[in-house]
Amino acid sequence: MKALVTGGAGFLGSHLCDLLLAEGHEVICVDSIITGNERNIAHIKTSEFSFIKHNVTEPLYLDGKIDLIFHLASPASPIDYLELPIQTLKVGALGTHNMLGLAKEKGARFLLASTSEVYGDPLVNPQPEEYWGNVNPIGPRGVYDEAKRFAEAITMAYHRYHKLDTRIVRIFNTYGPRMRLKDGRVVPNFISQALRGDEITVYGDGSQTRSFCYVSDEIEGIYRLMMSDYTLPVNIGNPEEHTILEFAEIILKITGSRSKIAFKELPVDDPKQRRPDITKARKLLKWEPQVSLEAGLKETIKYFKAFQAAGIP
Ligand code: NAD
Ligand code: UDP
Ligand code: UDP
Repeated sequence: MKALVTGGAGFLGSHLCDLLLAEGHEVICVDSIITGNERNIAHIKTSEFSFIKHNVTEPLYLDGKIDLIFHLASPASPIDYLELPIQTLKVGALGTHNMLGLAKEKGARFLLASTSEVYGDPLVNPQPEEYWGNVNPIGPRGVYDEAKRFAEAITMAYHRYHKLDTRIVRIFNTYGPRMRLKDGRVVPNFISQALRGDEITVYGDGSQTRSFCYVSDEIEGIYRLMMSDYTLPVNIGNPEEHTILEFAEIILKITGSRSKIAFKELPVDDPKQRRPDITKARKLLKWEPQVSLEAGLKETIKYFKAFQAAGIP
């Protein structure tokens, strides 16, 4: 099939392009490179792959058929979307509208990359897909959370009104090679701090929890969802939950670093707990994570070490 991946030069998007090509599909990668990097797709040499530099907040008209659209374009790290609040709202709203319009024009199946952030600071743990969330619309994180909630709403409207074939994946914290060392998320921050021997910056008292999924597991789940016939949202993430303080200690142990832990101010509206209920993914997609936290972190650390050694930021 012919697949189009928006955000395809980003962390998750580039791994998705790799998987689609390995599965024998043709891939068009569309990315504005606002938070991604062409380095992430530089290894792809096949003629089955093409790259279009384009901001999907603007319409995109293409010749030829498209069977599958994976819409991943959006700043994703809290640091990025706090720096790019308007672009984040626009890509979630206008960008999603445009890509739905393209899917309708081509008769393509459409998958939206949504997020656990639609649950906000959840009052229910773990979070099942039926939970409606606890989001502060006017807080600093609101630009991302509300953009993704709007994106889910318009995706369902195209599904119900235009009978478009759609999928919604709610991605929970995912990590692995090709994350930017300085994207501000906890995995690259802690690993780069540990490797340099700098203080590990734990925000708040570190009692907030997250559940970390390795990238190959996440991408496999997203692909299986696209190939299924299920049109309601599905959580894809790893249900193994850790406090951030525990996570700092895990990174210190695996890297063998002697960095000290330093407690810093907790960002506004930082969710206190997050863990996916993956009952649906297990049942509908026969999917569950395969890579342990230790194995995934070792691969990620190897990648970051090579980058640090090469002096790449
Ligand atoms: P990323 O920043 O590495 O990738 C996002 C990509 O989208 C980048 O390459 C960026 O340049 C591109 N992009 C942004 N705005 C664009 C626009 N207007 N037009 C074209 N391209 C644009 O982040 P990621 O972690 O790979 O996230 C990918 C998707 O997955 C995002 O939609 C994000 O919200 C979602 N997600 C990721 C996680 C995670 O833990 N990684 C968790 C939940 C949801
Ligand atoms: N669009 C696009 N490429 C296409 C078709 C549509 O970028 O091949 C955009 C266009 O900007 C449009 C949006 O997608 O505004 C939604 O398109 P749709 O046909 O659903 O209808 P509209 O909302 O414009 O009535
Ligand atoms: N965090 C931290 N130190 C850092 C970066 C993040 O303690 O240097 C915390 C952050 O406050 C949050 C968790 O780690 O509670 C995960 O943050 P991240 O930015 O990776 O993503 P989020 O899950 O908040 O979207």
